[in-house]
Amino acid sequence: MNKVPFVDLYAQYLTIKNDIDDAIASTIKSSSYIGGDAVKKFENAFAEYLGIDHVMSCANGTDSLEILLQSFGIGKGDEVIVPAHSWISTSESVTAVGASPVFVDTEEDYFTIDAALIEKAITSKTKAIIPVHIYGHPADMEAIMQIADKYKLVVIEDCAQAHGATINGKKIGTIGHASSFSFYPGKNLGAYGDAGAMATNNAAIAEKARMIANHGQKGKHNHIIEGRNSRLDGLQAAILSVKLKHLQKWTEQRIANASSYSSLLNAVNVDLPKTKDNYAHVFHLYVIKHDNRDALQQKLKDAGIETAIHYPVALPFLPCYSESNYKPTDFPVSYKNQSRILSIPMFAELTKEQMTYVAEQIAASL
Ligand SMILES: *Cc1c(COP(=O)(O)O)cnc(C)c1O
Repeated sequence: MNKVPFVDLYAQYLTIKNDIDDAIASTIKSSSYIGGDAVKKFENAFAEYLGIDHVMSCANGTDSLEILLQSFGIGKGDEVIVPAHSWISTSESVTAVGASPVFVDTEEDYFTIDAALIEKAITSKTKAIIPVHIYGHPADMEAIMQIADKYKLVVIEDCAQAHGATINGKKIGTIGHASSFSFYPGKNLGAYGDAGAMATNNAAIAEKARMIANHGQKGKHNHIIEGRNSRLDGLQAAILSVKLKHLQKWTEQRIANASSYSSLLNAVNVDLPKTKDNYAHVFHLYVIKHDNRDALQQKLKDAGIETAIHYPVALPFLPCYSESNYKPTDFPVSYKNQSRILSIPMFAELTKEQMTYVAEQIAASL
């Protein structure tokens, strides 16, 4: 029995049960399962939340990366710079459109792409950069946009873990040329199934992305290009609209929980997450680091505390990229972090008692 689960989606549901149940019932009553008002309503509400002109919903946060790359015309023969430390979608989407991911090492303390290493990775084939706001901490967008301007590259922000994070008060997802969101159930804004969205201020890209996500149609049966089926369904949109109203409060609770953990663990010999000045980290994950990570994880498991590793193997070292023969010395920081990171329970509804217990058990395990 887990005394402290890694995340408790049911606890969150119970806090909004009536609104969710009503939203599901009314979608079923109107039979608007694909497209329809609920989808439009959510897109508009999310655009307003971000402060951006266009939000284009789609089936998940992997499709959103892929469709955006396609919308910018990126494909065969092109290179796209991605961080060495991320979820596979970030690089997988690049390969899926026929381009090649080029990995760049990350910052040891913040886990985001090391902007100081990007220029060295740029070649005549480079077309885009996908910074990832990993764990909820924004990537260094100021430096990245400067490099992108200099080399005329497209910047697609991978915001899957960072809904609501900011740099100098400006929401991430509104700084690059376009941005990608996932609403996978465990994300900071999560649906009850797969869901995703793209955002941009560029009207032409918005139109292209919408077309690609809906079979290349511009109006019914007018297939301008071949696209695909990547739609947000009505049930998920209705659920997301209910949950979006609570996102700000939930984000504040995550930040408060992170600061509770940080004070509870202050005197304990583990590396705690850090946040850059003027950045708002939204703590999708609270990731600590320790040299004896595996032993620590086992002891916490024995104490009924569920933890996870995001991610145990950095992208270049995964079997799917073995042909490239990357060496640990190619990405020394990501390589070092992969064996030291441990994500401890983090969600808005965590109680003080749960966090105190987790901190006590971490201290007792070392
Ligand atoms: C979750 C995630 C995605 C993909 O999201 P799905 O909706 O699961 O396809 C992409 N990038 C990152 C960094 C993620 O964490």
